[in-house]
Amino acid sequence: MAAVEIDNVSKRYVGNKKEVRAVEGVDLAIAEQELVTLVGPSGCGKTTLLRLIAGLEEPDRGHIRIGGHDVTRLPPKNRDIAMVFQNHALYPHMTVFQNMAFGLKARRIPRAEIKRGVAAAATTLGIEGLLDRKPAELSGGERQRVAVGRAIVRLPRAFLLDEPLCNLDAKLRERMRAEIKSLQRELATAMLYVTHDQEEAMALGDRVVVMRKGEIQQCGAPLDVYRRPANRFVAGFVGAPSMNFLEGRLAGGRGVARFRCGLGDWELPPEVGASLGDWQDEPAVLGIRPEHVHLSESRESGSSPTARMEVRVVEHVGDSTLVHLRTSSEIAIIARVPGVSDIRVGECAEISPRLADAHFFEVGTAGCRLY
Ligand code: ADP
Ligand code: MG
Repeated sequence: MAAVEIDNVSKRYVGNKKEVRAVEGVDLAIAEQELVTLVGPSGCGKTTLLRLIAGLEEPDRGHIRIGGHDVTRLPPKNRDIAMVFQNHALYPHMTVFQNMAFGLKARRIPRAEIKRGVAAAATTLGIEGLLDRKPAELSGGERQRVAVGRAIVRLPRAFLLDEPLCNLDAKLRERMRAEIKSLQRELATAMLYVTHDQEEAMALGDRVVVMRKGEIQQCGAPLDVYRRPANRFVAGFVGAPSMNFLEGRLAGGRGVARFRCGLGDWELPPEVGASLGDWQDEPAVLGIRPEHVHLSESRESGSSPTARMEVRVVEHVGDSTLVHLRTSSEIAIIARVPGVSDIRVGECAEISPRLADAHFFEVGTAGCRLY
């Protein structure tokens, strides 16, 4: 039995005359003990979906089950979930202990039990020394821990976290991210974690759910989503720098396929051609990740095609170098070269995309995957 099951749930808001489809036909099941990350651009419906699960919004359509029980029409307090909000405002006039105890007190849980619960949660999070302080006397990371502590003082059926780390600086965010992951393992409770940061989603989730305009685009293990994005939107959203896209035309049949674009007329490797099937000069988009674009000053022997491009920007990011290239017709490609490259802006380079690692999509911002 899944901890949380969302079955064809939709939610629309009517703003000033315009209807917003915040969540549209979403199906999702989160297993017991599973950590699922929900990622997508701002406004794609992530918060709305969490609020629907928590019972803070009522769906127009569909059902929500928690621990096998239909909770679609139940108030939040009867749903056995705990939520950490995006702006985890702590009560400023209360101590850390009082903040953490607040939810339990509201539930009329005996004092001794509250004390035990808060102490245990504080120990888990390493904030047992801060219980008498007020929020103003805490650092950002400590406040964050208290906000999480408020959620874990009791063991709910599922945790819902809405961009809990978005107010922290990058270093602290990385550390808290690792802490949340090990905390989730320790508590062994289902968690749905919302973020707009694809890297955070990939690093944290057992499974990643990618949303766009209220709809789920893809749901899968992080590496599966990375390696086989379901459409062009997911392909461009997951991975940094983004996948390169080249508009062109696919042609071929009987196992031999070609892709023609502004950079050349390329024969595709046999395995790619075989999977693509028959194509009669159809428009398509080739996607290739920066790490699959190789650079050479001279033509390499081998089957990869090449194209000459000018180096416009070079970024040294430590373990690799990001080289931004352009043609005179303004076709842009980013290549990730391992190690420290001595290539310079203004130079010309031969790029060679490893076509065996290329992806093909239908045209359009969310064009479906062809291969
Ligand atoms: P996210 O959390 O992914 O940034 P939200 O779930 O907050 O997105 O919002 C999804 C869409 O629904 C947005 O277009 C937003 O403007 C709209 N929306 C959210 N809440 C309301 C509301 N209470 N009234 C009207 N529109 C809303
Ligand atoms: Mg949000």
